[in-house]
Amino acid sequence: MGKFAETQYECAQCKLSYEPEPGFFFGAMYWSYAIIVAIIVTMSVAMNLLGLFDYAIVSIPVAIVVFLPVIFRYSRMLMLYVVYPAMYRDLYSKKP
Ligand SMILES: [Zn+2]
Repeated sequence: MGKFAETQYECAQCKLSYEPEPGFFFGAMYWSYAIIVAIIVTMSVAMNLLGLFDYAIVSIPVAIVVFLPVIFRYSRMLMLYVVYPAMYRDLYSKKP
C-alpha cells in the first residue's frame, strides 16, 4: 500500500473531522464492492460488443488492480458525501 491509503484527519478550512468514529471507513468496502461490480458489468458488455469477450477474463482483473487506488479513494469519497451527512447531520451542519 502506498500513499494513496492516507486520508486527511480533518478539513483544512472548516476543521470538520473526516473520521467521526473509529472504523468509519469500513463502510467504504461496500462502495468499492459496488464500483468493482459496475466495472465488471460495464467491461463485460463493452468487450462482448467489441467481440473481445475471450480476453475479458484477463483484462477485467487487470483493470481492477490498476484502478484500485482510484476505487479506494472514490469509495471513501462516497462515504464522506453520502453516508457522512446522513449519519452525522448535527456534526455536518455545525459551522466553526
Ligand atoms: Zn471543510
